[in-house]
Amino acid sequence: MPTARPEGLDRLVLASANPKKVAELAALLAAAGVEVVARPDDLADVVEDADTLVGNARLKAEAVRDHTDHAAVADDTGLFVTALGGAPGVRSARYAGEPADDDANVTRLLAELDRAGDRSAAFRTVIVVALPNGDEIVAEGECRGRIIDERRGAAGFGYDPVFVPDDGDGRTFAEMSAEEKGGMSHRGRALRLLVELLT
Ligand code: IMP
Repeated sequence: MPTARPEGLDRLVLASANPKKVAELAALLAAAGVEVVARPDDLADVVEDADTLVGNARLKAEAVRDHTDHAAVADDTGLFVTALGGAPGVRSARYAGEPADDDANVTRLLAELDRAGDRSAAFRTVIVVALPNGDEIVAEGECRGRIIDERRGAAGFGYDPVFVPDDGDGRTFAEMSAEEKGGMSHRGRALRLLVELLT
């Protein structure tokens, strides 16, 4: 059946080089009839210096679109902690400094939250698709939860060992399978919304 999808959206070039992200996006978008291809090797890393998630996702998607002249998709995620005034937020990847280090980031987060009464936090993901004609599609997803005071679980990545989603049963993301996490996560929600917008 013909779809109303804008021309060029049957195939998206992914701005991320991360193989896990390519696989996750490809699986979900395949269901919507969209093929995802990895970013070209000859494209330099984009400097993510915007002060919002959508700004950084847009920088990455537009760089890949301009390089390939094809529709490109990029995402950006941050952890926003209430007691820290929204930090680490858009700076989540390098919270403990350069180079980005997941374990050091979690250590800093736990230190900053030492004895904090309010442990509430939210992950947010923004996905931007940049089209060759200058249009864009934006999908956002959020997952609310709380930061516990010590690590639990070995799955996942990033801040997963200390994040307990409100929609779960008390386990951290790092104690869940990828499917369970994806069912309630910020990225899963943003991806499902993107699929709706593309269908
Ligand atoms: P990125 O935008 O996906 O590169 O993520 C920015 C930062 O947030 C990195 O430090 C990631 O490790 C962290 N992060 C992103 N998504 C998740 C997640 O689903 N769980 C835990 N940490 C995440």
